[in-house]
Amino acid sequence: TATVRNAAVPEQTPHRAVPPVLGADLEVPVKGGRLVRYANLDNAASAPCLVAVNDAVAAALPAYSSVHRGAGYASQLTTTRYEQARHTVRAFAGARAGDAVVFTRNTTDAANLLARSLPEGTTVVVFDTEHHAALLPWGEPVRLPAPEFPGTAIRAADEALAAIDGPKLLVVTAASNVTGELWPIAALAHIAHRHGARIFVDAAQLVPHRPLNITALDLDYVAFSGHKLYAPFGAGALIGRPDWLSAAEPYLRGGGASAAVTVGAPGVVDTEWSADPEQRHEAGTPNVLGAIALAAACDALTATGWTTLIAHEERLLGVLRAGLARIEGVRELSLWGPDHPRVGIVSFIVEGWTAREVAEALSAEYGIGVRDGRFCAHPLVGHLLGGTGPCGESGAVRASIGAGTTAEHVDRLLTALSDLVSRR
Ligand code: PLP
Repeated sequence: TATVRNAAVPEQTPHRAVPPVLGADLEVPVKGGRLVRYANLDNAASAPCLVAVNDAVAAALPAYSSVHRGAGYASQLTTTRYEQARHTVRAFAGARAGDAVVFTRNTTDAANLLARSLPEGTTVVVFDTEHHAALLPWGEPVRLPAPEFPGTAIRAADEALAAIDGPKLLVVTAASNVTGELWPIAALAHIAHRHGARIFVDAAQLVPHRPLNITALDLDYVAFSGHKLYAPFGAGALIGRPDWLSAAEPYLRGGGASAAVTVGAPGVVDTEWSADPEQRHEAGTPNVLGAIALAAACDALTATGWTTLIAHEERLLGVLRAGLARIEGVRELSLWGPDHPRVGIVSFIVEGWTAREVAEALSAEYGIGVRDGRFCAHPLVGHLLGGTGPCGESGAVRASIGAGTTAEHVDRLLTALSDLVSRR
């Protein structure tokens, strides 16, 4: 039999505890009507809310009003909290003093805002391996195929950027939402700048797992989403150089983005748009609670410390990957091989099963939540699977680790997969 029973993962007490999440005790019904403790291994889709995030939002709710407008106490307090959140997010990302921190709905929104802010004639260079959020907003970019090695990515970017005149932007993810693999963003930033280009980094899957330092990495723009960072209330951010953003058409037209508006002859409305990139692109009442939640998550992760967070993740990821490798018929996907550094995201296929069947069985029979499909990165998953067979059509299964993940979750997943494999 291909069944492998996995030895229980030893629980270690990390030096400092990872921050607790809401819903850790959630019980879900499985086949036969039994209730089991939910094993959430789908952190890469949306991470559960940190208790600290929930507390920060609850504390903000009693005195809440719209920002930047009123003289009343609640409005003043909310404005202070909102701008403090911007400050926290800026520090969390290691942004330069002059960088804009625009609150957006999410990473997709941030990438689209940047796409609309590009100077006339900008050529965008993007890898086919990107998440659709970073692949699709650019009109007709120069596309680079899935690179065979990290060095191939650097060479391909180098050649493509060298061949382009005028303003140019290189788009790349920091950590893949499919394989968890880390991309060489510092080297790519260096190459981009050597050719007078700017770089936009999709950090949606980096920031829950690794520190980000825009200044040290010399990045021009980054984007990420609160809901992947344990702040599931909808705020994301676009952070980066202010000049393109200050010159661009406001993302939304309306109050807040406009510095002065006069109406003249019929049909004529003269608007002077705010030159401040944050105001200019945050028209209307912003998602203040989302920003507060995002900042609370940044604070909680910073207070915990990356050493603790990374040690927790690496330990579980090591057990997960070693366990998967021992189950005959399970194959992990990777672009650059098993030894390339990665965050706590693993996609795999199970022989004899479609990804959907695996995900459904894990949920219905074992109370384990994973994601299946092509993870909004169809070209990358197609490339990794060769597009053939039932798995090629249905995609892969993805297990992803976060602060709320325990050794018991990982052990249950491995045992369940061993059971599934032994059935076919
Ligand atoms: N980029 C990556 C790498 C992602 O994993 C995701 C979400 O899955 C996104 C971008 C898009 O994030 P959002 O849906 O929050 O805009």
